[in-house]
Amino acid sequence: MNKQEWLEKLSALRNEFEKAAAEKKSSQDIERDFLSKKGGLALLLRDLSAFSIEEKKELGSLGNDFKKKVAEYCAENSSNPVSDKKSDLDITLCGHPYPKGHSHPIIITMEKIISSMNKLGFSLEYGPLAERDYYNFEALNFPPDHPARDMQDTFYLNQKDEKGINYLLRTHTSPVQIRVMQSKKPPLRVISAGKVFRSEAVDASHSFVFHQLEGFCADKNISMSDLKWTLESFIKDMFGSAAKIRFSPSYFPFVEPGAGVEVSCVFCSSSKGKCPVCKGTGWLEMLGAGMIHPEVFKACGYNPDEISGFAFGAGIERFAMLLYGISDMRQLYENDLRILKNL
Ligand SMILES: [Zn+2]
Repeated sequence: MNKQEWLEKLSALRNEFEKAAAEKKSSQDIERDFLSKKGGLALLLRDLSAFSIEEKKELGSLGNDFKKKVAEYCAENSSNPVSDKKSDLDITLCGHPYPKGHSHPIIITMEKIISSMNKLGFSLEYGPLAERDYYNFEALNFPPDHPARDMQDTFYLNQKDEKGINYLLRTHTSPVQIRVMQSKKPPLRVISAGKVFRSEAVDASHSFVFHQLEGFCADKNISMSDLKWTLESFIKDMFGSAAKIRFSPSYFPFVEPGAGVEVSCVFCSSSKGKCPVCKGTGWLEMLGAGMIHPEVFKACGYNPDEISGFAFGAGIERFAMLLYGISDMRQLYENDLRILKNL
């Protein structure tokens, strides 16, 4: 093809376009006939490859001017897709509502507890889930072969630490206490929360993985009354100002004295004898607590004659069950949307 022939073809295309525009052909048709990859103009521009550079410049600019003109025409005359019968898009149709999720009740409860303890001046710390025997047991006054180790059925891992002792999945959040006390100096007010693991059969109130809250304070002149005030303020913040707590003697190797902490039943208040949650006692066992054992302070390099402190722990599932009125802990793990949606 020579230059003259090319120009004639372009001129023919121009005429075709004028005719199509005069006939008010749809902009989609014009776009297809002139601008698409197989349209007349695209083919004509492709033919330019055989021409010299000067000719390419001259003819290419003419071709592009025409292309611009067609594109402008199409943009100005493009029909409204709503009224265009050929379009599949109907913007008048309602969309499908996309379901919005929310955090899991255990996470919501954990965040509530953390924010409540933050208000009392406790800061959040984390620890590893795969823990050394030393942090999980020994430093917490569970020496090797101590019978109290049997209270916590433990998952041991195959990997050994440098002393040849197997790593384990932490059975409680208390190792965080040791890690923090060994790396920081008192005064300390710290909480930790997260997953813990025990080799337990799953039933309405037990699971092999669950969540714990841990809190401790280490400072000069800390007494049991500080512990009681802290827990009372925390429980009232969680369950309302009418909630009460009471202490009873209990045993944990890392505290002395140790206490079980019960909270007045938030479900029955005064209708004792009928409430299934507290079995009619009016009280719910919620936390374990006590004054940090002198042996624990020694393991962390503190002098127990100078420093005293309290510690407490609780199952987060227990709080979630009370806050959401769930009677079977398994409902929190089964991921049944019919339940989770209603929480
Ligand atoms: Zn009750």
